[in-house]
Amino acid sequence: MAAPILIVGQGLAGTLLAWELEVAGLPFEIADAGHGVAASRVAAGIVNPVTGRRLVESWRVAELRPLARDAYGRIESRLGRKLWHEMRVRRRFADERERRVFHEKRARGELAPWAGLADDDGFWIEGAARVDLPVLLSAAREHWRASGRLCEAACDWTAEISRRELVIDCAGRGTAAFGFVPWERSRGEVLLVETTGLEPGVILNRRHWVCPLDERTALVGATHEPGCDSPETSAVGRARLEESAADLLARPFAVREQWAGVRVQLPDRRPAAGRHPAQPALGVLNGLGSKGVLLAPWLARQWVDHLRSGVGFDPTVDCRRFAS
Ligand SMILES: Cc1cc2nc3c(=O)[nH]c(=O)nc-3n(C[C@H](O)[C@H](O)[C@H](O)COP(=O)(O)OP(=O)(O)OC[C@H]3O[C@@H](n4cnc5c(N)ncnc54)[C@H](O)[C@@H]3O)c2cc1C
Repeated sequence: MAAPILIVGQGLAGTLLAWELEVAGLPFEIADAGHGVAASRVAAGIVNPVTGRRLVESWRVAELRPLARDAYGRIESRLGRKLWHEMRVRRRFADERERRVFHEKRARGELAPWAGLADDDGFWIEGAARVDLPVLLSAAREHWRASGRLCEAACDWTAEISRRELVIDCAGRGTAAFGFVPWERSRGEVLLVETTGLEPGVILNRRHWVCPLDERTALVGATHEPGCDSPETSAVGRARLEESAADLLARPFAVREQWAGVRVQLPDRRPAAGRHPAQPALGVLNGLGSKGVLLAPWLARQWVDHLRSGVGFDPTVDCRRFAS
């Protein structure tokens, strides 16, 4: 007999949600068509507390980071695989304007507690992290394959809605059931490069970032192309990232791979969770934008609280904010 809850998609969103449901003892199955074009497959998995040209503190990072650390830590223990890596970011000023913004914000206390030592060239961002998403996705997939909860095929939404109590859309760009939500897409590209002398705990950042995986390999990313829904790589994306890699590494490197994925986000840059207002048997956890690692554990927890005790979703992320 089919489990009452079906999660559609085993990217980052579906994985964290399924994990929390399993821990809570709630009966579910998970359907996933494969990670071929999943955004989670190409994401660097970075949590960076201060981002963007205007050096903005990531939304709710002080509250969500400990929750995320705890969630990934529990998965690590269960799967026996290292997922969470503490990192620092060496943020180098792009220009005089960015240097001024930094000093003004720091003077107003807006970058505490993240901004560390600073000099003429840039400053340190403390409290960053990297989650190893390829390991998380493949180890979790194996776990649910072994327990018979995973269906490795595309979900037929109509058929599933008619035979389940709840179908939750964690399908990333494959979302099909929440037409009233104004989904936006943005292609992102990354390079896998080989070089020498990398410091594994340090992400280099100026416009783009270089995120070391070990002493010799790093990811370089990520481009943003709002409005582009293609998961194909491009020559322009590669050229932009090579330029940044040359600037940040300042030594020879070789490009080994180039990948692309599509982020799904909302105009207010907040994710979407909760039940469909007209079809309560449909749920969603999607629109993670470029902050999926930080947001997914919090949203998954809200789903569990909702299913256990009927608690509503945080209004800032509830999908019903788009229903008129
Ligand atoms: C280049 C790049 C770099 C990034 N870097 C970071 C970063 O450093 N840190 C960070 O936090 N975020 C980053 N992100 C964002 C991050 O990738 C996303 O927030 C997150 O991975 C989205 O996960 P998801 O599960 O919603 O979607 P996806 O990862 O796209 O997963 C969706 C899954 O659903 C499946 N699916 C879709 N439709 C169906 C269907 N009908 N039936 C069955 N299965 C279906 C797909 O096969 C797929 O496996 C980056 C994104 C990109 C593109």
